[in-house]
Amino acid sequence: MTYRPAEDRYERMTYNRCGASGLKLPAISLGCWHNFGHDFPHQTKRDICLTAFDHGITHFDLANNYGPPAGSAEHAFGSILAEDLKPWRDELIISSKAGYYMWPGPYGEWGSRKYLVASCDQSLKRMGLDYVDIFYSHRPDPDTPLEETIGALDYIVRSGRALYAGISSYTAAQTKEAQRIAKELGTPIVIHQPSYNMLDRWIERDGLKDALPGLGIGSIVFIPLAQGMLTKKYLGGVPEDSRAAQGKSLDAHRINDRSIEALRGLDALAEERGQTLAQMALAWVLRNGGITSALIGASRPEQVVDCVGAIRTPDFTEDELKRIDELADE
Ligand code: NDP
Repeated sequence: MTYRPAEDRYERMTYNRCGASGLKLPAISLGCWHNFGHDFPHQTKRDICLTAFDHGITHFDLANNYGPPAGSAEHAFGSILAEDLKPWRDELIISSKAGYYMWPGPYGEWGSRKYLVASCDQSLKRMGLDYVDIFYSHRPDPDTPLEETIGALDYIVRSGRALYAGISSYTAAQTKEAQRIAKELGTPIVIHQPSYNMLDRWIERDGLKDALPGLGIGSIVFIPLAQGMLTKKYLGGVPEDSRAAQGKSLDAHRINDRSIEALRGLDALAEERGQTLAQMALAWVLRNGGITSALIGASRPEQVVDCVGAIRTPDFTEDELKRIDELADE
């Protein structure tokens, strides 16, 4: 059946300005790292993406290596675009990245101009796109001069392959230097993609979170649900249909008596606040407008709907924030 998006989709979401740019991003974005490879049914991927768009999620995040196998998530997303979403291309923000291992030899990973430009071209082909909205350097490269990596992003934008440049997992110091170079070249970095959630606060300790607004850079945080730990999923142990049970990137050993007790405490607090644990975890990363967008993953459409509920959230009291700090101290 021909897909028609929900007419009230933009009333279901909040949109935040991304740094000092003209770009607005949904408070909740959807990533295709897991559950978009060949190991997952195409119909479920499609349902997840279309449910997301129906709820005002305009931003879909990909990378060259998402799968398995690497590249297959971009292929799958390209099919969903061709089958369903192409008529709404101008309402979508699609991103991709290069930085991690993609192909053998010296040009298939890290941050050289050779790798970034070739990988961007491959991503465009896999998704059937003329351009991506955001292209990222996926990780800092200790061996390539930052001028080269940021220069490659500038070239990718100037050549029309991407509209905006982003970086991922760079420290505060690396970000400041990257932005200095980018501004000199005339293509400022508009977005940073670091990890951040109640259990992973390196961007606070490093100073990155505080530095970004002054640099004019927005933030989209990955694993805001700690890969599912900050949901109701693991309150009774490790269920079979979970990422931890499938030996993927979430180590099942992290689900133990101690962490389950803490998660149950957080869940009880979420209930007191009239929301699910996933909604509270997302509201926490977005609190006080400190973050532009929370970048979730999902294995079924219902999870997307639950997460979008986070945008209608009560503010946190000082006491609630203190309780979260005590409970989430892993
Ligand atoms: P999350 O922390 O949002 O974890 C997503 C997982 O949590 C889902 O797959 C699902 O687990 C579970 N989940 C989600 N919503 C619910 C819910 N409402 N109720 C119960 N369980 C729920 O993020 P991801 O780890 O998936 O990462 C998100 C995105 O961030 C990626 O897709 C990618 O785009 C980006 N990313 C970027 C990185 C980078 O280096 N720049 C690195 C990692 C991710 P289950 O599958 O078990 O059902």
